[in-house]
Amino acid sequence: MGLLQISEPGESPDPHTRRLAVGIDLGTTNSLVATLRNAIPECLPDEAGRTMLPSAVRYAEDGAIEVGHAALARRGDDALNTITSVKRFMGRAMSDLREEAAARYQFAPPTEANRGSIRIITRHGEVTPIEVSAEILRVLRERAEATLGGPLYGAVVTVPAYFDDAQRQATKDAARLAGLHVLRLLNEPTAAAVAYGLDQRSEGTFVIYDLGGGTFDVSVLRLTRGVFEVLATAGDTHLGGDDFDQALARHAFASWSLTRALSPSGQANLLAAARVAKEALSTDQTATLQVNWGCGFDSALEVSREQFEALTAPLVERTLSLVRRTLRDAKLAVTDVDAVVLVGGATRMPQVRRALTGLFGREPFSDLNPDEVVALGAAIQADQLAGNTREGGAAHLLLDVIPLSLGLETMGGLVEKIIPRNATIPVAKAQEFTTFKDGQTAMSLHVVQGERERVEDCRSLARFELRGIPPMVAGAARIRVTFQVDADGLLSVSAVETTRGVRAEIAVKPSYGLSEDEIVGMLKSAYAHAGEDMQARALAEARVEAQSLLGALETALAADAELLSAEERSALEERMQHLAHLVEGDDHRAIARAAEDLNRASSEFAARRMDRAVKRALTGRTVNEVL
Ligand code: ADP
Ligand code: MG
Repeated sequence: MGLLQISEPGESPDPHTRRLAVGIDLGTTNSLVATLRNAIPECLPDEAGRTMLPSAVRYAEDGAIEVGHAALARRGDDALNTITSVKRFMGRAMSDLREEAAARYQFAPPTEANRGSIRIITRHGEVTPIEVSAEILRVLRERAEATLGGPLYGAVVTVPAYFDDAQRQATKDAARLAGLHVLRLLNEPTAAAVAYGLDQRSEGTFVIYDLGGGTFDVSVLRLTRGVFEVLATAGDTHLGGDDFDQALARHAFASWSLTRALSPSGQANLLAAARVAKEALSTDQTATLQVNWGCGFDSALEVSREQFEALTAPLVERTLSLVRRTLRDAKLAVTDVDAVVLVGGATRMPQVRRALTGLFGREPFSDLNPDEVVALGAAIQADQLAGNTREGGAAHLLLDVIPLSLGLETMGGLVEKIIPRNATIPVAKAQEFTTFKDGQTAMSLHVVQGERERVEDCRSLARFELRGIPPMVAGAARIRVTFQVDADGLLSVSAVETTRGVRAEIAVKPSYGLSEDEIVGMLKSAYAHAGEDMQARALAEARVEAQSLLGALETALAADAELLSAEERSALEERMQHLAHLVEGDDHRAIARAAEDLNRASSEFAARRMDRAVKRALTGRTVNEVL
């Protein structure tokens, strides 16, 4: 979740071969598409001049699929077939759903075959979150192609910084389904920083404050000598502009002394009216909240900005306390922050801007449209990746880092980290492993993600097997395992037995991923348990080593016992018993000492066996054969 800026030699920009590339902000509430025109990024409007496309998809009666404003308008009376906030479902399993989300639609029961993935039942049949998102992306692609006059070369699609492997993969799949070539998935705060040109500065510390329709995210970015890094990120996946609508709607409901509970469509009408009033209050001192209940029955209420701000002050305060916490996590004071960037439509509310100015003692950046800034940054990045270099030299490419370490399970339930947390991507790392048993011909590989030392405390991502390893003594096979994470943060793992060249590989694609809270939780527990984990690792390692030594000696004694005198043999066996006994306990130092002792005591035996083996191999062969 950090960024690294590198320079790539750009292709010479030729106006005739300029490739059409766009940036897409696939939002929870609204989505946008932007492109560079005459070196200036701009969002592309629909025929009605609107740049924002509500992230709503309705599966209509006549077999048609409505996307955007048309779909949203019918949410009240066709709720089960109108999917909104589908971003919350991306890369998730049924078991990840919160209760209120699970109550909004009808879902197909999870089965063994679909691995608990989310399927929403509509009048068009079952649809997956990936398909719903693809409908939104398709409309944006068509809008861009109609405006730019040709097929797109590719798109940069943005995702929240905390999105895990599964959520990123789902986003990429949706784009592919929509007929888009994904040049790169880009973190939303990074895109906002790029839109403001912060990557062009020499250094600085920036806070990206993103208050959208249903989510709040805050990230602290640091730029040093051209390298960007995310110092901390936090947020609330259920705090956004919608909560401000609800606060206002509750106030209106109470002041009208309505006695009956509202029908779902009445509720939708009230919330829509509250939203209109809320948005008007960002520019006006008063607004009228007006609801048409149908059958000629209306209600209206005048609300002042002051009233609205008093009603919603606790919501603003919740975002501020998350900002303060994020700064504490990054070990920064407010005075260390050089700029605050506003992202998300809800940051248009004056009370949000005032609160941030109060906290940081400076005005936040607001020159760009807060609901367009992510798409604009993505467009700049897309243009560079398409090879349409900006004037003035090489293109800057932003790279992210992986949020949690990736590794393999090794003997004793331990994790061997292959790619550490915060490694910049794309990255490939290889490590050699060997067999544990004599004659072992297969090896099972278990890929995990997390910071803890033990497998049971990490998240399991995938399992696969390498078969056909030539039988050899334990420790002789050379198995090279390579982890590769591409620029979008997606992992593939391959294993090769190097003497024989046997291969196995897997693209890691978990059925559902980690939530932001889980990532934060996993990091916290890694710090909290660091000491305890080191103990556990030391113990498990000592046990594995002791057991493999004992196993090897048992095999050797069974084969070549006559190489030892009776005394030598019983001395060795005594030490073996002592070690076997210690392995049952939990003193890793005692185990290591006894193993070392046994190793020394058996070295003479090993030498004699080696001698005999060499003699046997040489017997009856000529010098020419041997050399
Ligand atoms: P997301 O990133 O979740 O897709 P957006 O950044 O588009 O969402 O933000 C949508 C939210 O911004 C909605 O709650 C909307 O009411 C709010 N919003 C848009 N314009 C204004 C405005 N002028 N004043 C207050 N809130 C606004
Ligand atoms: Mg957004």
